[in-house]
Amino acid sequence: MTLHLRWAAVTDRGHVRSSNQDCHYAGERLLVVADGMGGMAAGDVASRIAVEAMASLDVPIDNDHQMDALHKALEVANGRIAETVAGDQALQGMGTTLTAVVFSTDRAALAHVGDSRAYLLRDGTLNQLTKDDTYVQMLVDQGLIRPEEAAGHPRRAVVTQALQGEPVSPSYVIVEPEQGDRWLLCSDGLTGVVPPERIEAEMLAIPDPHDCAGRLLDLALEGGGPDNITVIVADLTLD
Ligand code: CA
Repeated sequence: MTLHLRWAAVTDRGHVRSSNQDCHYAGERLLVVADGMGGMAAGDVASRIAVEAMASLDVPIDNDHQMDALHKALEVANGRIAETVAGDQALQGMGTTLTAVVFSTDRAALAHVGDSRAYLLRDGTLNQLTKDDTYVQMLVDQGLIRPEEAAGHPRRAVVTQALQGEPVSPSYVIVEPEQGDRWLLCSDGLTGVVPPERIEAEMLAIPDPHDCAGRLLDLALEGGGPDNITVIVADLTLD
């Protein structure tokens, strides 16, 4: 059985930020979104380093080595960020989120750090596969606020974990792909503005991945575009 991805990726600075510190990659077997942070130009340095390190995974990898390869690439990304920071004081504090999915013939493996997200649309339902590494998610987990209060919370931007060249605890998910799966990877420039019910409705309504990604981007911009926005929509076929 062979797996094919038909994807579309869009990114935009938004209406407020002076630069786009998001970085992404989409290929035959790999999807990545990284959202850089750390002021000045440093955020886009970190997100680019992370995406470049992960891009080595866009090759055939058998199932036994898939998770190991994903973990190693993430460690390489984190190590390169540490080296880069050590070589330039001005880059101190830079970091990036990282959400990456690597596809083999009959399996998908996801690695995640930060508040970018991966969703899977299957059987008409959009499921969030990642959990935000954020302060507000922690409050939700502890039952201190309701999930619907998170997006409007004054401290919603506080990320509890990112790739910053220091030890991290990424989360990993394995998915058995199914014919017709539709994946969404995005930065918080989308999910901070557009509610999940709306994202699900558009993902169901728009068959073409380019049109769908473009529509989601437009909704984030119409919602004010306060942050950089990156959207990857990928349709999966098995034959
Ligand atoms: Ca962001």
